[in-house]
Amino acid sequence: MPELPEVETTRRGLAPHLQGRRVHGVILRRADLRWPIPPEVAELLPGQRIDDIRRRAKYLLLDTAIGSAVLHLGMSGSLRVLPGDTPLRAHDHVDISLDNGRLLRFNDPRRFGSLLWQPAGEIHPLLQGLGPEPLDDAFDGDYLFARSRGRSAPVKTFLMDQAVVVGVGNIYAAESLFKAGISPLREAGKISRERYQRLADAVKEILGYAITRGGTTLRDFISPDGAPGYFEQELLVYGRDGLPCPTCGRALKHATIGQRASVWCSHCQR
Ligand SMILES: [Zn+2]
Repeated sequence: MPELPEVETTRRGLAPHLQGRRVHGVILRRADLRWPIPPEVAELLPGQRIDDIRRRAKYLLLDTAIGSAVLHLGMSGSLRVLPGDTPLRAHDHVDISLDNGRLLRFNDPRRFGSLLWQPAGEIHPLLQGLGPEPLDDAFDGDYLFARSRGRSAPVKTFLMDQAVVVGVGNIYAAESLFKAGISPLREAGKISRERYQRLADAVKEILGYAITRGGTTLRDFISPDGAPGYFEQELLVYGRDGLPCPTCGRALKHATIGQRASVWCSHCQR
């Protein structure tokens, strides 16, 4: 599943091919993905210039003067910029053709992705109430400390709450808590400011590193057969239950926290 680093890598890969281009046409081969595709996408987007491609949480926004197409890759979605005559493959649901003869093609086998419309000056309901971006300065130990007071949920559940901070999925929560030495079961409201600063630093370091590594796959975004920009993670604890802790060698523990599989070292993480 594309996580925040893959979505950011996708944004960086697509930006030079989309920025400043005018939309020629929109072809929808389905009326819906996860949600119905609003008529504005096909009616309003043609003729508009793509001023920018932005990311908010795991959404990508193609900004024009009158509004933004809002894309989400869901579980299995991918975006590529291709020559206009590239033959269709299974699950190619949307083409946004450009004024240079190329097109942005959205492929999504499982159809948990989405294509929505956000009028200029408005914020789509799905993007309202989101917490800060984890790589922004506003996300730090002071913020996590203040936000967590009175919260009795396990810190892993707290960290994965999109209203607290966006884009820290199960993998990155597990890895960040390991790096910060904090047990995923620890009550969020009982963690000190100093430990939250270590956690914020760990989140930034791990996500930032994943984005940097993803940069090496950017060429795939304009290759018809290349795999989209998902990349192997170098994971220390996620998915390694029962295996030795990379720090102390003791067997990693496993539990379900907030309905999500969680692995941690009960010796190194307190
Ligand atoms: Zn350990």
